[in-house]
Amino acid sequence: MKNSIIKINENDNVAIALFDIKKGSAVNESIIALDDIPQAHKIALSDIEKGGEIRRYGVIIGYAKDLIKKGSWINEKMLDLPESPALDNLEWGKDINTNTPMPKRRYWYGYKNKDNYAGTRNILGIVTTVQCAAGVVKVAVEEIKRTLLPLYENVDDVIAITHPYGCGVAINAREAKIPIRAVANLIKHPNFGGEIMVVGLGCEKLTFDRILDKSLITKENTLLLQDYKGRDAMVKAIVDMARIKLENLNKRKREKLDLSDLIIGMQCGGSDAFSGITANPAAGYAADLLVKGGATVLFSEVTEVRDAVNLLSRRCVSKEIADKLSSEMKWYDKYLEDGGVDRDANPTPGNKQGGLANIVEKAMGSVAKSGKSPIVEVLSPAERPTKKGLIFAATPASDIVCGPSQAASGITLQVFMTGRGTPYGLEIAPVIKVSSRDELKEHWFDLIDISAGAIAKGEKSIEEVGEEIFNFILDVASGEKKPYSDVYGFHNDMCIFNPAPIT
Ligand code: CA
Repeated sequence: MKNSIIKINENDNVAIALFDIKKGSAVNESIIALDDIPQAHKIALSDIEKGGEIRRYGVIIGYAKDLIKKGSWINEKMLDLPESPALDNLEWGKDINTNTPMPKRRYWYGYKNKDNYAGTRNILGIVTTVQCAAGVVKVAVEEIKRTLLPLYENVDDVIAITHPYGCGVAINAREAKIPIRAVANLIKHPNFGGEIMVVGLGCEKLTFDRILDKSLITKENTLLLQDYKGRDAMVKAIVDMARIKLENLNKRKREKLDLSDLIIGMQCGGSDAFSGITANPAAGYAADLLVKGGATVLFSEVTEVRDAVNLLSRRCVSKEIADKLSSEMKWYDKYLEDGGVDRDANPTPGNKQGGLANIVEKAMGSVAKSGKSPIVEVLSPAERPTKKGLIFAATPASDIVCGPSQAASGITLQVFMTGRGTPYGLEIAPVIKVSSRDELKEHWFDLIDISAGAIAKGEKSIEEVGEEIFNFILDVASGEKKPYSDVYGFHNDMCIFNPAPIT
């Protein structure tokens, strides 16, 4: 019999249809479909009483509004949403998995840094203090790329970090620390090799002393556009500073490194019902391989893990880490509440059509990308890690905000899982795109790097695709391969997270 459903966890009482199932057809030896069941939607594996638990991913995703007979279709109208898990007294250390798989590959080739993770690319990053300087810096970067970059063969790129922060903001507001920390940490990004180049305007609120140590505020590292007479002098000053930085960067060479020198991020966007059974668990398996091998892996997106917080806390290795996880969730609950919304603001109509009943089910699919490794640290937005291993970095789920926030935390590569498809990419670090379905890979054959769709068809296992993702991560990190977003230069702006007031 052709396999027509996929069950995630042995404790589940529902499974997902791999393709459209006709009413009356045999799903397996013991179950006959009582309804037409659309692809990716849920079928009951046993009778579920009124008020009974509906379990997927081994957790309760809802309660049955009425009796659900074995073999029935379960759509989003048939279940009540459970309460969000409470955030006080979270259990910790109860689910520490030390049996994650050891990777076959234990090395990669990167640019070693002193007191920092290694780079996957060798880039001159010119960071602005304020959006007002962005236009001039972008013009200067074009000139540097045209006239200087070809002379430095070991340097991969010159980029301008032109974020929307810097002035017209309440710089002493409580939450201003988040965007300020993001800018300060982007300057220290591992792909920039410790070369510091910051360009300001001259009258902005985000002054150099807020983002740089005093010893680094020198005429070699910083300049203000208002100090220069006219356009040409400004651009020349930036180009001249860049020349010296490029000389230094050009001395860097890739070397064979342990996985412990690698830090990457995981993100998903435009999820569908297959995301949680194909792309995200496969990426989670790759994350487990990386972590077991000594690498650091960040996962994020607060609203998409909120309903799984009680499961994540059990994977935290100390009470202190579980407490920080809880406080980040509380902060975000309040942030949403102040905006007059709650977690229901997350799932889209497309999510539901695709078989995702609610935010709980979406969250369980989303956290699959964190694999099964223990959580060794929790970061506030844009903080840098102090530990190696699997880390939860609190960020919004918004693709274009999560990316820069993880970049500020120092990721040198991101793996991005998608069901609907997005051309999203970052200049600062390569972004690998993994689709949840083969149909998306066929449609966007030159935008999606890897399809995890074969898992749903039973043609490949989660482990096989996970290993494929793991190998591609190391190939891209080592500069041997480029993801499509870099081949075509599809790069988004640095939309850093700013929850503080603008004046
Ligand atoms: Ca996202």
